[in-house]
Amino acid sequence: MGYNVEVNIELMTKAERIKNTLWETKERRKIQRVFVYELKLQNLSKKKIALLERAFLEAKWFYNWLVSDTNRLDATVHKVKTVEVKVGDHSEQRELTVLGSQIKQEIANRIKDNLRALSQLKRNGHNVGALKHKSFVNSIPLVQYGKTHKLDFDRKKIRIQILGTFRVLGLHQIPDDVEIANAVLVRKPSGYYLHVTCYRSKDRCVPVDKIGDAVGVDFGISSKLTLSNGIKIDFEVRESLRLKRLQRKLSRKRMSSKNRKRVRFLLNKEYEKLNRRRRDAQNKVLAFLKHYGTVVFQDDYVKGWSSLWGGAVHSSGIGGLKSRLRHSLETPISVERMETTTRECFACGLRHDLSLSDRVIVCECGWECDRDVNAALVIMRKGLGLSPHQAVGVGRPELTPLERATAARILGSNPCIRVSFLDEGGSLSHRDRMRPSRYCSDQVDTRRPASCPYPRTGQARYPPHN
Ligand SMILES: [Zn+2]
Repeated sequence: MGYNVEVNIELMTKAERIKNTLWETKERRKIQRVFVYELKLQNLSKKKIALLERAFLEAKWFYNWLVSDTNRLDATVHKVKTVEVKVGDHSEQRELTVLGSQIKQEIANRIKDNLRALSQLKRNGHNVGALKHKSFVNSIPLVQYGKTHKLDFDRKKIRIQILGTFRVLGLHQIPDDVEIANAVLVRKPSGYYLHVTCYRSKDRCVPVDKIGDAVGVDFGISSKLTLSNGIKIDFEVRESLRLKRLQRKLSRKRMSSKNRKRVRFLLNKEYEKLNRRRRDAQNKVLAFLKHYGTVVFQDDYVKGWSSLWGGAVHSSGIGGLKSRLRHSLETPISVERMETTTRECFACGLRHDLSLSDRVIVCECGWECDRDVNAALVIMRKGLGLSPHQAVGVGRPELTPLERATAARILGSNPCIRVSFLDEGGSLSHRDRMRPSRYCSDQVDTRRPASCPYPRTGQARYPPHN
């Protein structure tokens, strides 16, 4: 890559060289995109598991030791060999045997960052407390590729400083032309993972084929997402029966007993499972929205909703989806929170008094539309900065066969997502009533033969709730 700054590397001091490399990296990142790949550590022997557990334990000790006295965050923090650990009402010296110096440095850096963020909050008038001790640490930062960690693509292994080599699953996801950067060693109820951050130059990334120019998205309760072209996406990952059973079980176990610990572990595992499903549904919705040139949505207050509607909001993961929309789309446009969208007529901008039970908006100007689609259209119009008469052509929800097919292909593979299409007229009578997306287009469900006598588990578990 051509940088028009000539530097003589030999004449520089070490500090200058580091500064120069940092600057070069910063310049390079401007034309790169970031990817994070998850690798699962496999074939773990008891010895390896003990080693990993020790590493997370030591990370906790070290973290708590630093937090209990932030004056310890000085330049020599990476040389610390023993820390004091509070056991009961006295403290003991514990030796750090498996934490590398760079890991210690990075844990300290993270604390410094957190402190900085907290003091910033304090300056802005928020009430902040001190950093608290942790009862567990589930992530260990690995900063420098090649030193703290290294990937071996041929042998499908990774090497972590001091901890040794581990066989991993998932290396095939990483393309050849990426630059591998830092990583995080993560402990989850389902196992140990390495999250590797990679950078790839933007021109190497294949752009998705666009199926439409602009689309407005309305987030609602009854249909989770309504697009301005009439697609309604409803996704919900409900809390499973097993989760409820485990919660009940946990409440009956004696405090700090082994049984309680075991049930707690199973419960966390179940939570992880649900979160993965939620994440997958989000991924698919995002992947679909990426096919549009511009996505406009309203920045509303999801937290306020959950007090109104309770679990329904939580289980949809709308808040998470919104923040991901903001960060992962190329051209996200958000409309101000205070703008009225639901009650406004798209065609003339007249305000109507709609109650929650009114599903259709009918206006004197002749505009008649499904309430949510109207809101999505208004959001799109406002996001693009058009006045009602400028947006005449954008008006009617029209769905191309390509859009239908793409929606069915991407969203149809997840049983928690239901897609329905609104017909051109926009009235409810033509609406495809909430049917699983796999029936909605010409796409054939290939996963199961038609003659299969067993009920669809996907539907049995997530019945339509409208
Ligand atoms: Zn009107």
